[in-house]
Amino acid sequence: MTTQQNDFSKWYIETIQKADLMDYTPVRGCIAFKPDGYEIWEHIQEEMDRRFKETGHRNAYFPMLILESFFQKEKEHIEGFSPELPWVTEAAGEKLEERLALRPTSETMIGHLYSNWIKSYRDLPVLINQWSNAFRWEKKTLPFIRTSEFLWQEGHTAHIDEEDARKETMQMLAIYKEVVEGLLAIPVYDGQKTPSERFAGAVDTFSIEAMMKNGKAVQAGTSHYLGTKFAEAFEIKYLNKANQHEYVHTTSWGTSTRLIGSVIMVHGDEQGLILPPRIAPTQVVLIPVGPWKKNPEIMEKLDEIYAALKKKGIRVRLDDSDQSPGFKFNEWELKGVPVRIELGPRDLENNQALLKARDEDEKQSIDLVNVVSAIEEELTTMQTRLFEKARQFRDANAHINIDTLQQLQQHISSSKENGSIPGWILAGWCGDDACEEKVKEETKFTSRNIPFNPPTTKTSCICCGNEAKHTVWFAQAY
Ligand code: AMP
Repeated sequence: MTTQQNDFSKWYIETIQKADLMDYTPVRGCIAFKPDGYEIWEHIQEEMDRRFKETGHRNAYFPMLILESFFQKEKEHIEGFSPELPWVTEAAGEKLEERLALRPTSETMIGHLYSNWIKSYRDLPVLINQWSNAFRWEKKTLPFIRTSEFLWQEGHTAHIDEEDARKETMQMLAIYKEVVEGLLAIPVYDGQKTPSERFAGAVDTFSIEAMMKNGKAVQAGTSHYLGTKFAEAFEIKYLNKANQHEYVHTTSWGTSTRLIGSVIMVHGDEQGLILPPRIAPTQVVLIPVGPWKKNPEIMEKLDEIYAALKKKGIRVRLDDSDQSPGFKFNEWELKGVPVRIELGPRDLENNQALLKARDEDEKQSIDLVNVVSAIEEELTTMQTRLFEKARQFRDANAHINIDTLQQLQQHISSSKENGSIPGWILAGWCGDDACEEKVKEETKFTSRNIPFNPPTTKTSCICCGNEAKHTVWFAQAY
């Protein structure tokens, strides 16, 4: 049997298929989202969308096909994205005059349009988000985490000056952190990307980074300050109060269905998924046990509990199929349902039921009169407990005492020997790209971000030993 311990990637791929979240398709790197997988995305969308709207953003939609000439307008942008672009070259049996790319991101199309939409300082800021698919023909793919087609939101805003645009960049990063920590129960470090890891065409890129159970890092969301680069490329100018033309300052920010994969890799265990209650498609499953078919009162009681939970807006399922209770327990545990309620003849006699939280070993006995409030309470405490467990795991595997390349190499080889995970390391960096590159070449650890709130500050570069300009998280990343 594949376990997390002996082959994490295989465990992940098997688990998401067995739990019915996705399926592979014959198109390379493109997956089908099955209803349970898609519903997790819907809960992420609901929360993000609410937060975007609360902060003044509105949704719009832009074409999926982008003219090749648009990409040529911003040099760094095309250099960064050209290796990953899929192209449409023919339509209706005829070769197109100009190739069309399937959007990898929409700065260019939106830049073109904003140059018409924005005329004066009165038109600013423009605060728009798009929910859509995006395409990046990635060499190595992994369901949800890195796919050729993915679902995402991309925010694109235009501002009167740098200060306003930078405020927006930080605001959106803060929203990402709150949603990923609060809804997905995934602790993240927010910080700035090093220049080599910047978005193609950005002045500054900021990210939130999460640790998976195998110690690898996932970039869970990014927010970019684009300066006037796209405004210059697409002539996005406004008349200021003094009647002079000025370039707008733009931002963009995105999160994707990668978040689904991150939830699985952060919380799952050998039995399968563990879903934080706030995003679980099914939050509670009710299961009759013992000789319940001979005892109609059991189903009556479960129907009553079902109705009461529904009324509270809790996503509940009643499993009255003819499978054995043991089979059902396994099935719903695999699917990561946060709370299971068992009710049998003896429980009913005692006016009690059993409550099993997916992430805990022991079952709790609860009074039937309080069953709904006990479930509500468990859903709330489990949400916080999962975050706390993930945070403890991350902190235990985020090493802050490794200061040289040699120590890092030793750390990696001793982790291999004793079967532990190498995790992340916090190290000093002098700011030279060559040092960052050398760390990558020799250890496969790449810089994740320069955290805003590092657990400690480093004084010397991990590679050259010179004075450190930055304190950086390094890790193997997906
Ligand atoms: P970017 O536009 O490159 O800043 O990407 C925005 C976000 O989309 C990233 O932070 C990732 O979480 C996500 N993302 C990028 N590429 C992929 C991909 N191939 N599959 C899934 N998610 C992706």
